[in-house]
Amino acid sequence: MNEPASPALASSTAIEDAAVLIRKAERAVVLTGAGISTPSGIPDFRSEGTGLWSGDEPMEVASLSTFRTAPERFFNWFQPLASQIFNAQPNAAHLALAEFERSGHLRTVITQNIDVLHQKAGSKHVVEMHGTLRTLTCTNCFKQFESSSFLGPYIETGKIPRCLNCNGILKPDVILFGEQLPQSAWYEAQRAARHCDLMIVAGSSLEVLPVAGLPMQALDRGAHLIIINNTPTYLNVRADVIIMDDVAITLPEIAKRVFHG
Ligand SMILES: [Zn+2]
Repeated sequence: MNEPASPALASSTAIEDAAVLIRKAERAVVLTGAGISTPSGIPDFRSEGTGLWSGDEPMEVASLSTFRTAPERFFNWFQPLASQIFNAQPNAAHLALAEFERSGHLRTVITQNIDVLHQKAGSKHVVEMHGTLRTLTCTNCFKQFESSSFLGPYIETGKIPRCLNCNGILKPDVILFGEQLPQSAWYEAQRAARHCDLMIVAGSSLEVLPVAGLPMQALDRGAHLIIINNTPTYLNVRADVIIMDDVAITLPEIAKRVFHG
């Protein structure tokens, strides 16, 4: 090419490069974080300036110890977030990933999100590292319930959801600060990361351990790495393709190239 490279040109080259890697991959895995859900209107509650941060700090109020000692504080804080998640719809990035899976270009979605938007978009093989808002478990008798019939009334009234069996407090099956990651999900994610030939990081700044270490496990075994995120990550230096942009714009563009050349 004789023309000087412009930012737009560089970006379209990166999209083409990403599409080539996805077409060639046989065992691609994607790791998604809060950045894939913000275009669906779900704030990243770990980030400052989202509104949820002001007042009670999430690390304190969304912790296991607060849940145990003062559950009403947790449920008060969680109410607006639960409402946003309950009403959110998958965006073009979620849909592009579901399409990749349907067409055999993607094996596994590993997500740090609890919002179930990948499944709503049609993804089947989703490993939820930080749990899920899809179900609630009784803290007393451990019976598990689908969230659907509990979330609506809780969001409307703010009342703590109670077990139909024993009236115990129902805890959303999300991993709170100070709580262990679900072991089976962690093993499954590690297995996927170690066996993939392409890891795509989509909307994660790779700041929350141990999940942020998964792409490193993939790289160490020779996998390619694509990073699509608004801000730089610690692994940008090792990525084959870096796209610093909104995933809801970028992933559908990549999908177009993968499916239509
Ligand atoms: Zn119960």
